Amino acid sequence: STTLVWFRRDLRAFDHAALHHALQRSARVHCVFIYDKTILDGLPRADRRVEFIHACVAELAAELRQMGGHLIARHAVAEQEIPRLAAELGVDAVYASHDYEPAAIARDEAVAKALAADARPFFTFKDQVVFEKREVLSQSGTPFSVFTPYKNAWLKKMLAEPECLAALPVEPLAAHFAPPPSSAELAAPAPTLEQLGFERTNLAELKIPAGMSGGAQLFDDFLSRVADYGTARDYPAVKGPSYLSLHLRFGTVSIRHLVRTVSELSARGLAGEGGAVWLSELIWREFYMMILYHHPHVVGASFKPAYDAIAWETGPEADELFAAWCEGRTGYPLVDAAMLQLNRTGYMHNRLRMVTACFLIKDLGIDWRRGEAYFAQHLNDFDLSANNGGWQWASSSGCDAQPYFRIFNPVTQSEKFDGEGKFIKRYLPQLAQLSHKEIHAPWTVPRMLLADKGVRLGDNYPEPLVMHDEARKRTLERYAVVKAT
Ligand code: FAD
Repeated sequence: STTLVWFRRDLRAFDHAALHHALQRSARVHCVFIYDKTILDGLPRADRRVEFIHACVAELAAELRQMGGHLIARHAVAEQEIPRLAAELGVDAVYASHDYEPAAIARDEAVAKALAADARPFFTFKDQVVFEKREVLSQSGTPFSVFTPYKNAWLKKMLAEPECLAALPVEPLAAHFAPPPSSAELAAPAPTLEQLGFERTNLAELKIPAGMSGGAQLFDDFLSRVADYGTARDYPAVKGPSYLSLHLRFGTVSIRHLVRTVSELSARGLAGEGGAVWLSELIWREFYMMILYHHPHVVGASFKPAYDAIAWETGPEADELFAAWCEGRTGYPLVDAAMLQLNRTGYMHNRLRMVTACFLIKDLGIDWRRGEAYFAQHLNDFDLSANNGGWQWASSSGCDAQPYFRIFNPVTQSEKFDGEGKFIKRYLPQLAQLSHKEIHAPWTVPRMLLADKGVRLGDNYPEPLVMHDEARKRTLERYAVVKAT
């Protein structure tokens, strides 16, 4: 039989569920990646993610070629193209990985229906998580909505079923890959970035390594630091986290491989405390994917419906506050430096995602959905489940979220996590002369002193948009509607 393997957010040629099963079960395997117009048409013309994917697809194509296979890459609407291509190639079935986002589920249902009309089955496999859907349930058989018991059940299941981490080998048997199609249309070269309608970004300048080789390089580097992760991960000026989120998003790394490697190191006492903390973060990723799968209403609405009664600031003044937040002009250095990091690199440190999200919602009184949408557009690693989970955590409307009366103080956060202002100075060089006491709240420093150090509030650095203590009071009032329910 002949199979078509459809790559989506699983851009690798090793430990790959759909490819593994296709090679096991069929005589010939074709591979395809669709640059889906449904998704790409809505993006800005310079988008680091498209450039990143483009580089990953090129590496994947080269790797498959080495293994005796080939990758067809098309710029099309996936819902139409996959059934059309399946017919053109005369395959018996199409294989892909599970996706848990509502739009992707709807797309896959439409593809399955179109394929079924031609008597072609569409088989999908778990690949981007260790445990999915209803695999980790509470004792009463329902999905969890609190993280810690979910994590404990997840870990227990992992230990009880070690096969869940087993690699799914992609045997490089040329006999199992179909020869590249001979028709001119089918053998057409992959579209260039320009042909896709996109411009180059500063991705190369940022030295973000792409593809399977990039993912492996980052993981190797992280393994030398994993033992310190538990403490180092909270300080944005320190190289603490793994920077693998972008690779996890597009599947250039295998989650089974990451979890297996870190668990083995931990078992041998080589991953310190950091190994367990990092594994816990990977479990947060699966927790939010599971939440999105079971509660798709979180897209656009609060997980806890009572929180949809909150009245957010609206109108031109709120629009100006929002614009200042987006552009890093709030007057709170840590918040501004974080937003500049996002705008210039597409990455933001986890601690800063929490700080900036809380600031927008609880200091500026702006609807979390506006911040969520801004992050969705600008984060290289944007992932609907993690982003929505993070924003609903900050707005207190999510499952297992920060309680609404716990409001981050942006100055205290700054003092605690960027004590010497090293991170701030990286993005706000105009504050370089300020001491580590002054840098967290420049408006509290006498103007003369500031001027001596080259800082002119309202000129080369903004006055604070709000005073935190007053904003805090307004937020508690705003959230009173929730308390009343
Ligand atoms: P590491 O610290 O090395 O963590 C390893 C991996 O664990 C990450 O790559 C990620 O896949 C996962 N992970 C870590 N923390 C979380 C978390 N809180 N929730 C879910 N998964 C987690 N992460 C995204 O991947 N995409 C997003 O769009 C996203 N949006 C966020 C929005 C907000 C408001 C907040 C508070 C967090 C968001 N996160 C998101 C989670 C987290 O900030 C990033 O995963 C992390 O900063 C990525 O850096 P890293 O790969 O170096 O992480």
